[in-house]
Amino acid sequence: MTKYSEFEFRTQPWFDPAWFDRTAFQGFNQFIPMKTIVIHCFDPRASEIPQAVADYFGDEVYPGENILDEAGNRIGNTRTLFAVSNAGGRAFSALQSVATMDYLFKVKNVVVVHHSFCGATAFTPETLVGEFHDHHHADISTMFDHDSLAISHFEESIKHDVKLLRASPAVPKEVKLYGFFYEMNSGELTEVVRDIPA
Ligand SMILES: [Zn+2]
Repeated sequence: MTKYSEFEFRTQPWFDPAWFDRTAFQGFNQFIPMKTIVIHCFDPRASEIPQAVADYFGDEVYPGENILDEAGNRIGNTRTLFAVSNAGGRAFSALQSVATMDYLFKVKNVVVVHHSFCGATAFTPETLVGEFHDHHHADISTMFDHDSLAISHFEESIKHDVKLLRASPAVPKEVKLYGFFYEMNSGELTEVVRDIPA
């Protein structure tokens, strides 16, 4: 046996091998009722964002708690809202998480939150790419969506990210999208844009 393979998800007694057939897989919502993904910056000063979004919607469970079986194994959790954090809280970097969570749980809402005094407002895409090239002799200019590398205007960055999500094949068409601005000193969360499919 390969080292650590005993810890793979499929070794758990309640795992059904039929789930590897994607036509038979019904999702893991019976174990964790995930419905909402919140994309936010990993700046530790803004770490309350997922809780603020959960409070705003009012029908989310966050942080929730583990559900244990008789042996004490963690077989689920009550959380409904999952957080994805990255530099700036950009949608571009979160697309793989959205697609994967839709396979495992079915995503209902995706929320993008940009926050006040974010470090991503302290440079431009050009300075980031130029600095990287000068110091590391590597060209990263074509690796990312140019307008996702830095934030020059908050309302535009939030609208850009909601548009990017709506245009991406990684985001199911029926998913509801929201864009918020978070003022981290006051804790105030302001809805800037929403895109609800008809
Ligand atoms: Zn930030």
